[in-house]
Amino acid sequence: MTTDLVSIELRKAERSRIAEVDFNNLPFGKHFCDHMFVADFVDGQWQNLQVVPFSDFTFSPALSSLHYGQSIFEGMKAYKTETGEVQLFRPLENWKRMNESARRMCMATIPEEVFMGGLEALMRIDAEWVPSTPDSSLYIRPFLFGTDTYLGVAPSKTYRFCIFTCPVGAYYTKPPKLKVETEYIRSAPGGVGYAKCAGNYAGSMYPTLLAQQEGYDQLMWTDAIEHKYIEESGTMNIMFVINGKLVTPATSDSILKGVTRDSIVQVVRSWGIDVEERKVSIQEVIDGIENGNLTEAFGAGTAVVVSPYSLIGYQGKDYMLPEVAADDSLATRIYNYLSDLRTGKVEDTFGWMH
Ligand code: PMP
Repeated sequence: MTTDLVSIELRKAERSRIAEVDFNNLPFGKHFCDHMFVADFVDGQWQNLQVVPFSDFTFSPALSSLHYGQSIFEGMKAYKTETGEVQLFRPLENWKRMNESARRMCMATIPEEVFMGGLEALMRIDAEWVPSTPDSSLYIRPFLFGTDTYLGVAPSKTYRFCIFTCPVGAYYTKPPKLKVETEYIRSAPGGVGYAKCAGNYAGSMYPTLLAQQEGYDQLMWTDAIEHKYIEESGTMNIMFVINGKLVTPATSDSILKGVTRDSIVQVVRSWGIDVEERKVSIQEVIDGIENGNLTEAFGAGTAVVVSPYSLIGYQGKDYMLPEVAADDSLATRIYNYLSDLRTGKVEDTFGWMH
């Protein structure tokens, strides 16, 4: 099979597993589509580009990335429009971010034609798997890891790039309770917080577990130096509505530059609403809750789009966020707009759909 961009070998699954999946009940990340895209970086070149049935990999126990963590990933989604077309949302942003992560982790970068060629080939062959029920989509997981069989601490010379996909349903949860984390950190200046590397997620699990044992759902990460400024929440960027403006921490090397975050900032500005990207202190948020100037707090990310929070726990005290009627909530307006854009119900004025 030759896509418009690169030559990709195709080996089709003998039989599709799609009939085994209940599309009305799609837990996140459990059902994998029939095919995956795989490419290998060997002798300084990307080669062996293939779309093959979703299946296991076999590796040596000395696989370098298992020991030293050269492992990065992306998360993005495809949607089905009312006319049955499959659309990707801003895939080039994920490609660019993947390469920023790769550079930081001293890994081979992925040429645009390999990333996009593989993605498009996979979308074509598994198009049927893209759900069309409301609020559902196809979650896409590109990832890259070092494949040297070598125990020296050094950048791997060989890599595997893979993309697989899963249909996912609506992500209804109760609004989560956030705990402001002031002991553990997710990232630090000069560190790897802006990279989507596997270790960032491993490091966040223990502090998150401790917060869950106290009855919270997720953490609000604060800066590594003073624990004074807000960075992100859980695995999402965080946004507030303060005095009618959208306020969100400015990105830095300790914050992941979310594609959802960037999209929301652009959309909300286009609505004529002020957006401030700057440092946001915990004190400002607590004061805003107490004096009523802060009306909304929500996470922003690919998995949920927007996730309004119900309360913020800080230094042993819980601060309830106001309940905002859906019609008055900026988070709901954003959610509806992005859903309509992705399913072709509103015109793509930003040129984001692919
Ligand atoms: N921050 C972190 C740490 C994340 O893992 C994610 C999810 N990729 C985000 C923010 C949101 O990024 P995006 O909007 O691109 O999904």
